[in-house]
Amino acid sequence: MKFGTKAVHAGVEPDPLTGAVMTPIYQTSTYAQESPSKHKGYAYARGANPTRDALQKSIAALENGQYGLCFSSGMGATDAVIKLLNPGDEVITSNDLYGGSYRMFKKVYERFGIKFHFIDLTKAENITPLINQKTKLLWIETPSNPLMRIIDIKACVAIAKKNNILVAVDNTFASPYLQSPLLLGADIVMHSVTKYLGGHSDVIMGALALNDAKLRDELFFILNSCGAVPSPNDCFLVLRGIKTLQLRMQRHCSNGRRIAEFLVSHPKVGKVYWPGFPDHPNHEIAKNQMTDFGGMLSFTLKDDSQEKANLLMESVELFTLAESLGGVESLINHPASMTHASIPKEERVKNGLSDSLIRLSVGIEDIEDLIDDLASALEKV
Ligand SMILES: *Cc1c(COP(=O)(O)O)cnc(C)c1O
Repeated sequence: MKFGTKAVHAGVEPDPLTGAVMTPIYQTSTYAQESPSKHKGYAYARGANPTRDALQKSIAALENGQYGLCFSSGMGATDAVIKLLNPGDEVITSNDLYGGSYRMFKKVYERFGIKFHFIDLTKAENITPLINQKTKLLWIETPSNPLMRIIDIKACVAIAKKNNILVAVDNTFASPYLQSPLLLGADIVMHSVTKYLGGHSDVIMGALALNDAKLRDELFFILNSCGAVPSPNDCFLVLRGIKTLQLRMQRHCSNGRRIAEFLVSHPKVGKVYWPGFPDHPNHEIAKNQMTDFGGMLSFTLKDDSQEKANLLMESVELFTLAESLGGVESLINHPASMTHASIPKEERVKNGLSDSLIRLSVGIEDIEDLIDDLASALEKV
C-alpha cells in the first residue's frame, strides 16, 4: 500500500463484535477472564487496549515498521528508549535537540549515571572520535528544532552499525510522510504524536516504531512496567487525525514553501531557516532523505532585537502565539523564551539560537491569508 492508503486503512478493521467501521473507544481498565489467566488477549488496560492496538498498527505501517508502541507523550516514548540503557552507558546526540529532550537527558538521566555527548551531528564524522565500549545509543533529531538543520541519517547509521550502536530518530518534525528513518537503517523511530500525527492540537501522545521483535518486547516491558500509556479516547482521536495525514502534510509543505519564499525576499527579514532553499547548508541531504521540506521554518529580523521580535509576535492575528507545532492551525513561537527556555542562554547562543529567532509552524489555512497576516505584522515592526 502507498502512504495515503495506509493512512486511511492500516490497522483499522471493522470491529469483530458489531461490524463498526471505525475502531470503538474501548473505555475500560480491565477485561473479564473465563478462568484465571484465560482471556481474549487482554487482561489489564495498562498492558493492552484494542483502540491502542489499532493505532499502534497504523503508526507502524506509516513508518514502514513491524511494531508500534504508543505512550502518554513524546517524552514518555523517549524516556522508554533511554531506559534500555544502564548506568555508565553513553549516548551521542546533537547539540540543537528539542528542549524537553535536552532537559530529560541532562537533568534526569545524567543523575542516573548515563553520559550524553551533545555534538554537531550534521557532520557524521564527528561521531567517530567519541565512540568507545560504553557507547550504546545514537539519538538523532532531524530536521532540528528550531534551526532546521538536517542530519544525514544514512551516514550516521553506517558509523553506528559498525560499532553495534542502537540508532533512534526523533521523526516528529518530518512526520512519516516526509521521512522514513527505518528504511534508512535506523532501529527506532520516535514521534511526538502530539504534533503532525495527531494534527489537531487536541492530544498529547508519543509513539515508537521499529522492526526488531526482541527490542519491541524490551520496550513493551518498559511501557507496561513504568506505565506511560495513552488513553483509549486519545488513541481514537489520533486514529482519526491520521486519516488525513497525507493531505495535511501536502498543504503544510506547499504553504511552508510559499511563506519561506515570502520571508526571504522581505526587506525587514534577516535569515530564513528552511531546508528547501538551495543555499541551505544541508539542502542536498534534505532532498535525498525527505520527500518534501515540511511546514516548519524559523527566521530572524534584520533589526535583531527581542523587542522587535516580540512586537511581531504580538501583532499577528491568524498565527497563534503558542508552543507546539504540527496542527492544522498556524502557530508562531519564540524558542529562546518558550520551547527552548530550559537550555542555558550560553548554550543556546553558542548553538546559533539567537534571542530574536522566531519559529513558525505553518498550518493548512489559505496561503494568501497567512502571508497577509505576516506582511501586516512586519509592517508594524
Ligand atoms: C514536542 C516534541 C517532543 C516531545 O513530545 P511531547 O508529546 O510534547 O511529550 C519531542 N521531540 C520533538 C521534536 C517535539 O517537537
